[in-house]
Amino acid sequence: MKCPECDADIAIQDDAMSGEIVSCAECGADYELAKNGSDVELKKAETVGEDWGE
Ligand SMILES: [Zn+2]
Repeated sequence: MKCPECDADIAIQDDAMSGEIVSCAECGADYELAKNGSDVELKKAETVGEDWGE
């Protein structure tokens, strides 16, 4: 996977589970893994106290 922020490689383990948090070693951004079948996406994990706007 590539970091959406800085395009660095992020190692995702084959047995990584959806919802797992991975961090980019280059820029330190945190992402949540979203698995959809064989597709794996990185969703930005918001760790700051932001309102999710429900
Ligand atoms: Zn990065």
